[in-house]
Amino acid sequence: MTALRHPDSLWAATAIAAPGTAPLAGERRADAVVVGGGFTGLSAALHLAEAGADTVLLEAAEPGWGASGRNGGQVIPGFKLDPDELVARYGAERGERLAMFAGGVADLVFDLAARHGIDCQAARSGWIQAVHAPSRMALAERRVAQWRRRGFQADLVDAAQIAELTGTGRYAGGLIDRRGGTLNPLSFARGLAGAAIRAGAAVHGQSPATAIRRDGARWRVTTPGGAVLADQVLLATNAYTDDLWPGLKQSVIPVFSYQVATRPLGDIPRRAILAGGMPVSDTRRLLLYFRLDGQGRLVVGGRGRFRQTEEPAFYRNVVDGLGWLYPELGPVEIEHYWAGQVALTLDHVPHLNELAPGLHAMIGYNGRGVAMATACGRMMAGRMRGAALDDLPLPATPLRPIPFHGLRQPALALAIHWKRLLDRWETRRQ
Ligand SMILES: Cc1cc2nc3c(=O)[nH]c(=O)nc-3n(C[C@H](O)[C@H](O)[C@H](O)COP(=O)(O)OP(=O)(O)OC[C@H]3O[C@@H](n4cnc5c(N)ncnc54)[C@H](O)[C@@H]3O)c2cc1C
Repeated sequence: MTALRHPDSLWAATAIAAPGTAPLAGERRADAVVVGGGFTGLSAALHLAEAGADTVLLEAAEPGWGASGRNGGQVIPGFKLDPDELVARYGAERGERLAMFAGGVADLVFDLAARHGIDCQAARSGWIQAVHAPSRMALAERRVAQWRRRGFQADLVDAAQIAELTGTGRYAGGLIDRRGGTLNPLSFARGLAGAAIRAGAAVHGQSPATAIRRDGARWRVTTPGGAVLADQVLLATNAYTDDLWPGLKQSVIPVFSYQVATRPLGDIPRRAILAGGMPVSDTRRLLLYFRLDGQGRLVVGGRGRFRQTEEPAFYRNVVDGLGWLYPELGPVEIEHYWAGQVALTLDHVPHLNELAPGLHAMIGYNGRGVAMATACGRMMAGRMRGAALDDLPLPATPLRPIPFHGLRQPALALAIHWKRLLDRWETRRQ
């Protein structure tokens, strides 16, 4: 078996060292098995082990190899749906509970980083959502009002203020959510893995789960080097879900997001660009997101092609986005190009699927999972230790494979083209 290593990225070049995670060898018993070593799986394993459960985590590559070690490192509270939309969909009691859960997810990330001394440059600077056209300012107003009504701190900013905060004049205004911030995501993932190991979990890299089946009252999860017999299993494989459980892969739509990181910008432009250190995501349907890292590199991300590649020629969209934001930088040197996959759901919320008694799946963060996946991992640890479904903030949903999943690529290409046209039209009207 060829070992799967991290692709080149800014985070792979700058993260803390990975803890030792030898492949699973031989057969063993455990209370719980977690499949997938991203934020969902690592947080679940950590919280299970801290609660005294004998826990094994199986990761096909290395902890943080998937989206968790490749993302923009923007710690963002909330779902894509706003609190009032959650109430409209799930009813007053469940919807409010879900909104409060979503509102608190960033707290957990910063608490875990502090409590476990994870050196991941976690900074609670706040997070900016930049509005791309005046006609969309009402969205930011509603969002701010809804969070404030629930006691969370969010502020509306106008065009002049957002230009001052970001150093670009491209936006009509926006909102600042004070709960958010930034971190080095691969360092956070490796730090969580280290914390889980110290808490007693067995974390195995290069250990893809290749089969899962009932074995008496338990589940047997097999890897090329061994097997684990456990009472509880969590599948936390998100956009990298394979055919381990029928229909799970088909219940989400994997799409690529591409990022680039410039060379460190040096002092002069840094004073103007993102002066307060807040990360930014914008409101376009095909959004641009950007931030500075600890050394002053500008990190910009956006929608990519339908393939994993580090070939610079395929990153034109994102490099053009950088030029659109900060034309004064000119053709700035790019140090890193990298890509990863996010898992979209048709209802825009993550899915908790109870696949069979004792077998759970938690996937589908719609590109907003640094904080949410970490929190859902803790929630699933509670579920695997016996919490009732009704007591969880996120309702469980039946596994629903998306019809015509095999045709997703042409359908997505059309949808992306349409969204790009709408974004351009709205931006030009400004
Ligand atoms: C480029 C990019 C930028 C993003 N930017 C942001 C951002 O700035 N802010 C934000 O909030 N969110 C962002 N996201 C989304 C966020 O990274 C994800 O939602 C989150 O990391 C999901 O975590 P996860 O643990 O569920 O999945 P992942 O981190 O993808 O982990 C799944 C793991 O499962 C493993 N696996 C799969 N199958 C098996 C198997 N059979 N056996 C064993 N292991 C298996 C994979 O190897 C992988 O490591 C971004 C995502 C990408 C790709």
